[in-house]
Amino acid sequence: MSKEKIVNCVIIGSGPSGYSAAIYAARADLNPILFAGSQPGGQLMFTTNVDNYLGFPIGISGKNFMENCKKQAKRFNTVILYKNVSEVHFSSKKGGTHRINIENSSSLESKGIIIATGSRPKFLGIEKEKKFMGLGVSFCATCDGFFHKGKDVAVVGGGDTALEEASYLSKICKNVYLLVRKNSFKASKLLQNRVLKKKNITILFSTKILEIIGDNFLEGIKIIHNTNKTIQKLLISGLFIAIGNCPNTEIFQKKLSLDERGYILVKRGSTHTNIPGVFASGDVQDPIYRQAITSAGSGCMAALDLERYLSDI
Ligand SMILES: Cc1cc2nc3c(=O)[nH]c(=O)nc-3n(C[C@H](O)[C@H](O)[C@H](O)COP(=O)(O)OP(=O)(O)OC[C@H]3O[C@@H](n4cnc5c(N)ncnc54)[C@H](O)[C@@H]3O)c2cc1C
Repeated sequence: MSKEKIVNCVIIGSGPSGYSAAIYAARADLNPILFAGSQPGGQLMFTTNVDNYLGFPIGISGKNFMENCKKQAKRFNTVILYKNVSEVHFSSKKGGTHRINIENSSSLESKGIIIATGSRPKFLGIEKEKKFMGLGVSFCATCDGFFHKGKDVAVVGGGDTALEEASYLSKICKNVYLLVRKNSFKASKLLQNRVLKKKNITILFSTKILEIIGDNFLEGIKIIHNTNKTIQKLLISGLFIAIGNCPNTEIFQKKLSLDERGYILVKRGSTHTNIPGVFASGDVQDPIYRQAITSAGSGCMAALDLERYLSDI
């Protein structure tokens, strides 16, 4: 890639949001260049089935879904580079050129940037946690709760997300164990009250997971009650880990306005960041919904926002 070449559209990220932005940008003749990063396909590559994306009546595997997204983006001549962006230098002037440094490579200049670098769930750091992702271990109740209809599940965490997840699952599952490491919640009072009212949520404070039970998929967990050191086995079909999510914004620190958790701030109802010509879409700017369909939707918005921006400079 020549250093001097100035392009119209660079997309950083190859999840649903990045590919959706690429399809719209390519069809608007912006000739997008998409950086796939170190996790081509994004978070859905870690899941078995995607059952809630519109248009797939019998569901689709996460890998096949992302392969389809890639093929569709390529069909409209998106250039896909399997590289990480290591540094960005944004111009604060409207119509200015932004520079992207490519890991172990050269740099690239673009008038428009779409950031779709997504987020990553925080892990507990216990054995089989990653191996059983999609096989009983989940990071998203909205995505996987349905697979555990009428069964017993556990949610780990004491913050807002964990309590939201527990509350959601209590409507689908038979029993929900809510495992909280500390002896109190971090979540808002409103959510605490909602959870405390649910008859099928059992709250276990001061507990820690010692082990995930199962050979080929999750069959249960072993927990320890820290106050009296007793060990308990819970037979559950699903373990929902809700101890937090990190947006992938390390390279944008001090380059863009971020919220206190690191999510990119966009102007309400749009994908505009505080820098002209730089747009953000998908999970990286969305601490609330974090779904493939909402990410793809905002990827489309980012391409349309960029197309309008370029027509105006
Ligand atoms: C296990 C699991 C199961 C899920 N199941 C479902 C489901 O069934 N249904 C559903 O709707 N949602 C599901 N989700 C949520 C869904 O995966 C996300 O909402 C969605 O993937 C977000 O898309 P995105 O494009 O914003 O980012 P991501 O999918 O997170 O993709 C981010 C991309 O950015 C790239 N990137 C990051 N940093 C850089 C960099 N510096 N340079 C270049 N590239 C970079 C990465 O390589 C990656 O390609 C699940 C999530 C997980 C973790």
